[in-house]
Amino acid sequence: MFTKKIELIKNVTCTGCMACLNVCPVGAIFMQEDERGFYKPKINLSKCIDCGLCDKTCPILNENNLNNISPELYALWANDKIRLSSSSGGAFTLFAEEIINRGGVVFGAAWGDNFSVVHQKAENLQELELLKKSKYVQSFIGTTFKQVETYLLQNRWVLFVGTGCQIGGLRSFIRNKNIDDSKLLLIDLWCFNIPSSKTLKKYINDNWGNTLESFSFRTKKNNNYVSHYFTIKQKGMNPVVIEHFSYWFKAYFSLMYECDACTKCKFQKQERFGDISLGDFWGIENHDKSWNDGKGTSMVQINTQKGKEFLSAISNECARLEKVPLDWVREGQGNGKKQNPNQQLFYDLIDQGILFNKAVELALAGKKFDIGFCCVQVYNNFGSGITNYALYKTLKDYNKEVLIITQPKSSTISPLNKTYFKNNPFAREDCAKFYNNKEEMKELNKICKTFLIGSDQMFNSYLYPFIDGFIKLDWVNDSNKKVCYATSLGADKFESNPKETENFKKCIRRFDYVSVREESGVEIMKNKFQIIADCVMDPVFLCDKKHYLSLIEPFENSFEKGKCFCYILDPDLEKETFLNKFKSKSNINLFVVSDLANSPELVKSKWSMQTEYLSYIEEWLTCVYNSSFVIADSFHGLCFALIFNKPFIVLHSKRRGDERVLNLLKLIGYENRLIDVYKDNYNIQKIISTKIDFDKINSIINNSILHSRVWIETNIIN
Ligand SMILES: Cc1cc2nc3c(=O)[nH]c(=O)nc-3n(C[C@H](O)[C@H](O)[C@H](O)COP(=O)(O)OP(=O)(O)OC[C@H]3O[C@@H](n4cnc5c(N)ncnc54)[C@H](O)[C@@H]3O)c2cc1C
Ligand code: SF4
Ligand code: SF4
Ligand code: SF4
Repeated sequence: MFTKKIELIKNVTCTGCMACLNVCPVGAIFMQEDERGFYKPKINLSKCIDCGLCDKTCPILNENNLNNISPELYALWANDKIRLSSSSGGAFTLFAEEIINRGGVVFGAAWGDNFSVVHQKAENLQELELLKKSKYVQSFIGTTFKQVETYLLQNRWVLFVGTGCQIGGLRSFIRNKNIDDSKLLLIDLWCFNIPSSKTLKKYINDNWGNTLESFSFRTKKNNNYVSHYFTIKQKGMNPVVIEHFSYWFKAYFSLMYECDACTKCKFQKQERFGDISLGDFWGIENHDKSWNDGKGTSMVQINTQKGKEFLSAISNECARLEKVPLDWVREGQGNGKKQNPNQQLFYDLIDQGILFNKAVELALAGKKFDIGFCCVQVYNNFGSGITNYALYKTLKDYNKEVLIITQPKSSTISPLNKTYFKNNPFAREDCAKFYNNKEEMKELNKICKTFLIGSDQMFNSYLYPFIDGFIKLDWVNDSNKKVCYATSLGADKFESNPKETENFKKCIRRFDYVSVREESGVEIMKNKFQIIADCVMDPVFLCDKKHYLSLIEPFENSFEKGKCFCYILDPDLEKETFLNKFKSKSNINLFVVSDLANSPELVKSKWSMQTEYLSYIEEWLTCVYNSSFVIADSFHGLCFALIFNKPFIVLHSKRRGDERVLNLLKLIGYENRLIDVYKDNYNIQKIISTKIDFDKINSIINNSILHSRVWIETNIIN
């Protein structure tokens, strides 16, 4: 069996006109959507009888245009009622009504299910309403050409309206089947290019979810004849006209959707396939102002004798009709003939689930995401959440496009579709979809320039296997920059089996720049992996304080001020004893909170302290902010005590080790604020009465921040 030529052209010049599907005598051809949602034919070889009709009929593979007279151009208005319910001057309705009055059938494009567009017939004025107005989406022709054949054989008049390529397809179908077409009127549209319904659905879904009941293009409002107004109707609500220049049209007019077939279009020239060609008479006011009254003017090109007869038949129904010079057709009236240079980027972004508007914005600017920020975005730990927030905000303040990438679904710790923030501060457009596995994540190489591993314990050798080791960036191309910022190993050692240690080493050695949060991390990187790493500040110190204050503001009055905020990750009896002693010596009331991960039952089984349960990261932050003292067995508890200049005590953590807090305490010269409650050799009174010199601490921290900022600017931002 020979390969059919239609199979060869389908990825490039095939317009999806479906002439081949209609002509196939054995129903061997069916349509499939290509990656971008355009309809393309596929041959079922087990049915194909090799008759060659498909190749013979395809209007792309065969040269056949139609004009049998030199074209004439007209400007046309139907009455105002028709004009206001049509895209341009309402010419289509006048021709369609003429056909219906002759007992004929009209074929045109109507909205189908789920914002698809389908060609269908209308035999009365009610059905005709559905065909009116331009739908900027490729319509599904289906078997309408065969239906046209049936009606013609019944000696009925038929009007078929479609884009130039669809009309070219129908013309070819009729010729090849040798059908008498004397009662067939063909109207083709001037056509810029046609998006796929898959793309429109993405636009609708990303902007309105599944709340839309209907969507229609070309709304006319306040005598403003523009192409980009459209109307949406949400369930249970009144229709709303969208007047601004939407992302849909920004992309459309920038040729972002233009498919290869439209680029190579042979139907948008003066020699046409229809008896009549219809378009919007854009720019007619440049020749005659009176023709633009804001309600729309049809551009009618008459290409055949039959077209001429029909124009004459409807002329009495026209509110205004005038023959105008052919050169009033604007340059670029039809097809754009080129694609936006960033089209591939646009589709790559869309394919990766980036929100439609964001994808348009980036593609129009020819920009990828500057940084793919890899972290565990949602984890039931206040510190983890606020660290991600801090780094995200810091990068955004550098005006960078940041895409937050969380662990794949193949991880033991699944990515979560929730947030521990009351008011999610991560813009939805900045969040990547959840990938099934690292293999799928490779797609992200197309849309991010740099990949950054966030802070906290991303290199903790015990923890990272639970997130499928995605932080090793072994799914990132060599050519994409790989960086880690203040990434913590969580302990003063890297403990894994030799094979995984070797694997981690191989991966981390592919990183372009490495920084860690603890000095011990610098040593591990050097001794175990032969990497020079820098020690930098946790991002919570880099984030502009105004961002924390904006999180706190709505909660500030919900928590009493002046208490001692006790943030205890691992409650036990020794810590309880310490806290009670502190309370009696200091006379400060306690507000005790445990970790998000700890259930009330677990906490109750560990001690009998009255413990409060916070649900949101903003509440936790507010508690630190409103407190007069902070006691914590947590690194981030200490960090925020320092950021908000609260006197503090850090409790030794048996379970988690003190490496991270000690590192910070050493930096500021307050190692003596780390208390080992299990040794009972502390002097609470002394600790309480020792004043903390926050001026000195702030100055040390500010210096370190400066150093860290230089690191970020040198290795990530610039
Ligand atoms: C995708 C698209 C791009 C266009 N681009 C241009 C352009 O660049 N320049 C220009 O001058 N005119 C363009 N037009 C044509 C113009 O928008 C009007 O459709 C035309 O002027 C007819 O308007 P009307 O007032 O006579 O009647 P309307 O009632 O608006 O008639 C609309 C007609 O278009 C048909 N139609 C609607 N959507 C589709 C579709 N998706 N596929 C096939 N047929 C459809 C309907 O069946 C109906 O017959 C475009 C139309 C479409 C559908
Ligand atoms: S060769 Fe004939 S039978 Fe085979 S797909 Fe084409 S039209 Fe159908
Ligand atoms: S007939 Fe139309 S749909 Fe079929 S291959 Fe040719 S252009 Fe494509
Ligand atoms: S631009 Fe050409 S190929 Fe594209 S839809 Fe219009 S007529 Fe068809």
